[in-house]
Amino acid sequence: MLYPISQIGAVATTEPRSGALLKMEWPDKKVGYADIFPWPEFGDADIDTQLLALARGRISFLVEQAIWLGRKDAIMRSMGVNGLHGGTKIKNHFLITDFTTIADRHIADIKNAGFTTVKIKCGRNIHLEALFIQKLINQFALMVRVDFNSRLDFSNFQRFMGFFSQRDISKIEYIEDPFPYDTANWTEASKLVPLAVDFEYENVDWSHIKSPPFKVIIIKPSRMDVDRAIGRCTTFNLKYSVTSSLDHPVGIVHAAIVAGELRKNYGTYFLDSGCLSLRAYKSTEFNNKILVQGPYITQVTGLGIGFDDVLEGQDWQLLTR
Ligand code: MG
Repeated sequence: MLYPISQIGAVATTEPRSGALLKMEWPDKKVGYADIFPWPEFGDADIDTQLLALARGRISFLVEQAIWLGRKDAIMRSMGVNGLHGGTKIKNHFLITDFTTIADRHIADIKNAGFTTVKIKCGRNIHLEALFIQKLINQFALMVRVDFNSRLDFSNFQRFMGFFSQRDISKIEYIEDPFPYDTANWTEASKLVPLAVDFEYENVDWSHIKSPPFKVIIIKPSRMDVDRAIGRCTTFNLKYSVTSSLDHPVGIVHAAIVAGELRKNYGTYFLDSGCLSLRAYKSTEFNNKILVQGPYITQVTGLGIGFDDVLEGQDWQLLTR
C-alpha cells in the first residue's frame, strides 16, 4: 500500500493505492526486482487481477514492463554495479499534485532547493489553477509543465489558455494530455502551446500519423515499451521526459536509471525528468535508502536499483496458481 499525502491527481483520490513488489529469479540464478502499481482510474486491471493473471501465465503490459525492469536490475546486481553510480545526475521537475496545499513559502523553498521546473496536476478548477501557474511563472520565475490527465475538452482548454499572456505561455514548457486525443482538436490546441502525450500515447494512430500534434512523449518505463517510444522520438523529432508512474520508490529508482541511460544514448531529445515523486506518499522504509539533493536523485544504497536489505526483508509470497 502507498498512502497519498494529499490528492495526487485530478482523477485519483486520497485513498491508499494498492500495488506489489515483484522479486524475480531467472534460470541463470540472477535475481531482480520491480514494482507494479496499476491505475484502475485510468483503465488498468487492479493489482489482484494482475497477480492472478500472472500466476496463470498471462502477462499484462504492466507485468511485461516489470519483467523488463527486473531483468535490468538482475543484470546490474550480478555485475555488482549500482544503477545510479557513474552516470550524470538527472534533473527532475518538482511535482505538485494538489496545489491548494502549497503556500508561497513552499514555492520559495522549492526554488531555493534548485528546482527550475514545476509540474502541476490540473483539471479541478481551471481558473484557480491558472492563477497559481501565473504565480509560479511571474513571482517565482519557474518553468511550468501542466498535466490535465485528459480532464478538459477543447473549449475548456481554450478557456484555460485565455487566462495567459504570450509571455506566460512562453514559460509553459508543455501541457500534457489536455483532453482525449483526437488529431483535429489536438492540432488546433498545439497552435496555442506545446503539447505532450502521456496516457493519450496509446490513442495516437502511430502507423498513419505524418506530423504529430505534440512535441513531447512522456516515457514511463513501468508502463510502456521504452525502445519503441524512443524510436518514435527519433522518427518524429519529438522530445521526451522520463517519469515515474507515481509508484513505489522501487519504480522511482528504475525510472531514474532508465532516464540516465536514455540521456546518454539519445541526449538530443532529452528533457528534464519527473522521477522525483517520493513526496506524493507517506514515507516508507525504502525512502531512507534514497538520497535526494534538490531536483536530483543522487544515490541509492545497494546494488542494481538498491534497497538490498529492505528488499530481502520483505515478506515474499510465492506466486502460485
Ligand atoms: Mg500524465
